[in-house]
Amino acid sequence: MTIQWFPGHMTRARRQIQDKLKLIDIVIELLDARVPISSRNPMIDEILRDKPRLIVLNKSDLADSRTTEQWIAAFAEQGHACIAVDSSTGTRVNEIPVRARAILHAMIERQIAKGIKPRAVRGLIVGIPNVGKSTLINRLAGRNIAATGDRPGVTKGQQWIKVGTEMELLDTPGILWPKFEDQIVGYRLAMTGAIREQVLNVEDIAFFAVKVLVKRYWPTIAERFGVETPPKDIEDADEIVRVMEDIGRKRGCLISGGRVDLEKTSGIILRELRAGKLGRISLEGPDDL
Ligand code: GDP
Repeated sequence: MTIQWFPGHMTRARRQIQDKLKLIDIVIELLDARVPISSRNPMIDEILRDKPRLIVLNKSDLADSRTTEQWIAAFAEQGHACIAVDSSTGTRVNEIPVRARAILHAMIERQIAKGIKPRAVRGLIVGIPNVGKSTLINRLAGRNIAATGDRPGVTKGQQWIKVGTEMELLDTPGILWPKFEDQIVGYRLAMTGAIREQVLNVEDIAFFAVKVLVKRYWPTIAERFGVETPPKDIEDADEIVRVMEDIGRKRGCLISGGRVDLEKTSGIILRELRAGKLGRISLEGPDDL
């Protein structure tokens, strides 16, 4: 996954989605349940305008369910229908067509009133890279659709995928860029593995991860890594590094002179976080807004 989001590419991505909007009734905006705001495209409201929309929090199996419920309530307050799913196993994925039809209820009623037999509602999945668009499309289709995605300059016919009898999806999702001007967003995405480590320094990513973990899930990391002393002040960088060093010592990441190998320690922390070894972790909550 190496998409370089140059300005020209963003313009093209945006145009491709806007062209597709003409073909569909509803957008399924896919977000990562662990980072619903950081995984959101910064121009999404402007791009979609008043197109009906269902927000789907994917990878909810990796997020903590209490925080996910808070996010669903927060989106509802903004007037957006929102559900949480796990596309890797298919949990709650079959609620997507049901919710889509509920959102389009008025349109369907109008068709019925005009004597038109309501057709399947047409949807488009949009989201940033790695959020799970292909996985969800395959789940909804109930079979493997070739991994396509938008490639600039490559035109191909649009295909509709049937999702049961009541919904159809465009086979190629809309790929949007993340909000990468914001450093914190970059680190949060990197923690989930959505941004490659070559772009950001592994120790910096782990530093941000430990800071979030200490703040939101201290008992979990204390238990997992066997560290005992919580930082006195989480805004104090030295204290966060001290926790990282404690973790490194517990895991035997030492270099000459008995110093802690922070790079190796950082790799371990991030691998365990991403693999779900620390349990279900949400990296941002509505209270962080
Ligand atoms: P895309 O770039 O948006 O099309 O993302 P992909 O569908 O390729 O998924 C990116 C990665 O996330 C893959 O490794 C998927 O297996 C994984 N993934 C997708 N959905 C889920 C989910 O709901 N839960 C978990 N745990 N992993 C998921």
